[in-house]
Amino acid sequence: MKLAYHTTVIGEPQPLAELVPVMAEAGLPAIEAASATVRWFKPDIEEQLDRARDALALTGLELYSVHATFDEELDWSNPDEENCELAQGMMGSVIEWSAELGARIVVLHPGRIAEGETDAGYVERLGNNIAPLVITAETEKITLALENMPYEREHTEVMAQVARLLASERLVVCLDTGHAHINEGLRRALEVGGEQIGHIHLHDNDGKSDQHLLPGEGNINWRDFMPFIGPESEFQGAVVLEAHRPESVSLAELHEKMCDFVEGRGMG
Ligand SMILES: [Zn+2]
Repeated sequence: MKLAYHTTVIGEPQPLAELVPVMAEAGLPAIEAASATVRWFKPDIEEQLDRARDALALTGLELYSVHATFDEELDWSNPDEENCELAQGMMGSVIEWSAELGARIVVLHPGRIAEGETDAGYVERLGNNIAPLVITAETEKITLALENMPYEREHTEVMAQVARLLASERLVVCLDTGHAHINEGLRRALEVGGEQIGHIHLHDNDGKSDQHLLPGEGNINWRDFMPFIGPESEFQGAVVLEAHRPESVSLAELHEKMCDFVEGRGMG
């Protein structure tokens, strides 16, 4: 199990090349870049990637994963065919650029279930629409992680079904602990996600809203979760802290607290 930090722990999104030295300086081992840390479709994209790659090489910080955005123009599962194809092309570029940065994972949000659509129909549509992206990921040797959402029917089980349907080593489920807590519950999500889970977004909340709190600040029962990442578990992926950092906690202190947490000693 690898511990990593989403760039949200810094606060406002800044260009990746500027965040890397700050996060490396604090001793963080690996990071996940928020989509907003790269301006993806601007003419200077290759320069941005070069700068970010230079910063990573200079500091030795690992860019483990990239969180792709999900706004309407990037809706790779849009029921409208034309929009869908356009978005798939754009997302394909994001996957290739993330591979150029040396990332191992690209996190994708699924589109929303359509009105009147059955769960099985939703799984089939997501499966069909993610298939070309999985081919790109296989070519680029990068893994896609399909994230469970905090909406009633876009839960972990359907994401695991999509992953099983595609049956590619390059498609896993990103289990978001906070989203699962609001939705089906973390314990259930772990059961139904099972071995499809290859990436984890770690944060806490009150079970009602997606607060992105540090573990222990909400009411998730972490005892259900710890065995999943513990020494006995087969989980090989990363646990990415995707929480807002209180101003009173420095990045280095945050890392200390997280090391305690993943080793089962609470939040320090
Ligand atoms: Zn997440």
